[in-house]
Parts: sequence; structure tokens; C-alpha cells
Amino acid sequence: MKQYIHQNRERFFEELFSLLRIPSISAKPEHKADMYSCARRLTELLKEAGADKAEVYETAGNPVVVASREIGAEKTVLVYGHYDVQPPEPLDKWRTDPFEPVLARDPATGEEAIYARGANDDKGQLFMHLKAFEFLVRKGLLKHNVKFIFEGEEEIGSPSLPAWIEAHKELLKADVILVSDTTMISEKVPSINCGMRGLAYLEVKVTGPDKDLHSGHYGGAVANPINELCAMIASLHDNNGRVTVPGFYDDVVELSPEERAQLARAPFDIDEYKAFLDIDEVKGEKGYTTLERTGIRPCLDVCGIWGGYTGVGAKTVLPSTAHAKISMRLVPDQTSEDITRKFADYFKRIAPPCVKVEVTPAEGGDGFLIPISSPAYQAASRAMAEVYGIEPVPSRGGGSIAILAVMQRVLGCDPLLMGFGLERDTIHSPNESYLLRQLFAGMESIALFYRYW
Ligand SMILES: [Zn+2]
Repeated sequence: MKQYIHQNRERFFEELFSLLRIPSISAKPEHKADMYSCARRLTELLKEAGADKAEVYETAGNPVVVASREIGAEKTVLVYGHYDVQPPEPLDKWRTDPFEPVLARDPATGEEAIYARGANDDKGQLFMHLKAFEFLVRKGLLKHNVKFIFEGEEEIGSPSLPAWIEAHKELLKADVILVSDTTMISEKVPSINCGMRGLAYLEVKVTGPDKDLHSGHYGGAVANPINELCAMIASLHDNNGRVTVPGFYDDVVELSPEERAQLARAPFDIDEYKAFLDIDEVKGEKGYTTLERTGIRPCLDVCGIWGGYTGVGAKTVLPSTAHAKISMRLVPDQTSEDITRKFADYFKRIAPPCVKVEVTPAEGGDGFLIPISSPAYQAASRAMAEVYGIEPVPSRGGGSIAILAVMQRVLGCDPLLMGFGLERDTIHSPNESYLLRQLFAGMESIALFYRYW
């Protein structure tokens, strides 16, 4: 594969750049046409790479691309990826145009990287699969059936995909779901993600008086919903950093000391971590390390809070309403549905009688775990060990790819997360990048996965 990459390097860039130039931003409805252009471009690339079939399918939302090459093999790989990207804002923080990809040197290390929105997440990472597949086809090395599903709604929580998958499960039938949409735990030590957290996301509204009031005439005598909301939010954690919602931890799978020791093999420098974030101290649930707090433990965070007057100057108002968006990251076997209900019940119960509370669920998805004893994990581990010269560490992802838990349930096969991103790629942020050595190491690892599985 190394040699193949070397011979085709320029063509690879042209092809990947053609995807990166399309602003397929799923969060903005005005980019609907771009979603279709990107989906169509993917079908062209899939066919050129060796797919017998590649089609754009309509869903209730953005289109999904499905392709396949069936060779009558015993086992089938289903590659999942997403072609939608996050909005590029704030634009003034980008050194180059987010939708005009460039090959440049990392200002800090001098290493070559591609800079563009989606360079890593997930166009760059899904592209590795296209090229590993192309290599296997053209060299006559393909020994599995291969299917691809590329969706256009991952960044907005894949609202249309569960129903679509449910209706097309025969089309997607496979033995493993191969995904590259995550990061490695460190630059030097590769890792394979064997579990991800789920999510329960909701919005709360606290209402006091039915209209905004003069804070001089009423202040001190009528409940201020912002004050009340802040007090309620503050009470959602105890002094040990644990979430106080009753039953919150009931279904949390506790890890054995051996499993915790495995995870602790991951290289992690707390001082580097703090320096990277420019913080003096970390904070979280007592009794767990930072990596455990983001990998094997659930958490609750306020993602946004608003109400009252926030414009220029002073407006002496006692507001009628206060709002917050709350995210809870979940671990196996918590379910989004159960935690959402427990939160809503509790939040209404802790509200003082002077205010009314509404809780509206927004997004959700369950986490999942993959046994590291599975043949697919073992094949991936062997492949990456060969490319990186070090055995990969099994890691746990703090984020969520909600659709994977759905696919696992509906299709009855496990996802395998071979992600090649690095923290420094700053996905979702300005100047998103993807290191060339990771792009190429990913292609090599994926090609080897097919050999060893
Ligand atoms: Zn992604």
C-alpha cells in the first residue's frame, strides 16, 4: 500500500480536495444543494475506486450514499462515514479559506497537513477507506464483500438515519461496521476505540412572572427565574462531583480493576493536558482519573444559559423566563430515554413553588462497547501494530456517534472504530487539519485490516 500511495499521491489529493471544496454544512438549511453535490461526488469516487453499485438515496433529511462490491465472499465489511461538516465559523480565526483546501506545514512542527473544514472529520477519514478499498480491488487482493454507507447528518445527530436504516437493513447487512471518525489517544501510541458514550440532551425553561418586571418595583419580592435556574443547576452536582439526579448511576457498568489498568496504559500527561487547555486544575467525579472521567463515567454539563437582558448598557429588568441547554454524556448501560425521564422528573421536583419548569428533550443516543476479544478488534490491532510498530491501546471515546448504537442494534453487528485523527487536528474548530502521515498510515492500516480479518 505504501508504494501505491506514493505512486498515486497527487491524484489522491485532487480527489479528496474535490470533496473538501463542497461546503456540506448540515446545520444550515441553505446548504441543501451542497449536500446533494457532495453525495453525488462520493458516488463517482466510489465507482472509480471499484464499487459495482453506488447510489444516492433520499431520506427524510439529507441524502445517504450507499455503495457496494459483492464478490460472493463469506464475510462483509460495512464502512460507515459522514460527508457533512460542522459550520466553519468563526471565519476570522481561519488562516486559509475553510472550503479551499491547502497542503501546508504545521506552524509548530513543520509536518505536512491538509487544512480545510472536513480535512479530518470526516471527509479525510472516510477517504482513507475509499483508497484502501481501491488498492485492494486494483491489486486483486480483495477477499471480502464491501459495502459503504456515508450519511449527511452526523453533525446534527443523524435525525433521519435510524428510520432509513430500519427500512434498508437487508441492503446494509454485514459482519462488521468499520468506522474512522475518532481520534487516537496520543501521537506516539495508536489506540482503537472500543466504546463510546451516549448522549441525553435537553432544554429547560423556568418561568416566573408572566411578563418582564421592573427590578426596582418587584426585585426582592418576586422569584427571579434566572436566580432560581442557577440554584437548581448548582444543585445537580454534589461535593464529590457526582450528579445528584436520583437513579443516575443505577445502570452504569463499573469496570474491574484489571479493565481500569488496561485503560491506564494509555499515555497521558496531566500537565500537558492542563497546558493545552490553559487551566490550572482539572475537576470531575472523585475517585476517577481524567481519562476515566471522559471515558467510563457519565457527566452532566450546561451547554448554554440565557435569559433577561444581555444587550449594551443596563436594563433593570426582572425577567419572566430563564433557559438552559443541558447535555448528559452516558455510559453503558445507561439509556438516553431513561436518563432523560429521570432528569425531567427530578428537575421539576427541585423547582421551588414560585416558578414553573418545562423540560424538552432535544437529542439522544446510547453508548456502546465492543469486546476486545472479537476477531475484528484483533485484526485491527494487528494491522495498526504493524504500521505503527506499537500495539494499540484499547481506549474509550468521550464523545458520541449516536447512529452507531442504532446500527449495532438494527444490523446485529459490532462497530469497530479505527480512528486516525489527533487532538491537534482541531476538528469542529478553525484551521481543522489532517496530518499526511496519519492519512497515509490510516490507509495502510485499513488495507491490512482486510488482510487479517
Ligand atoms: Zn465526525
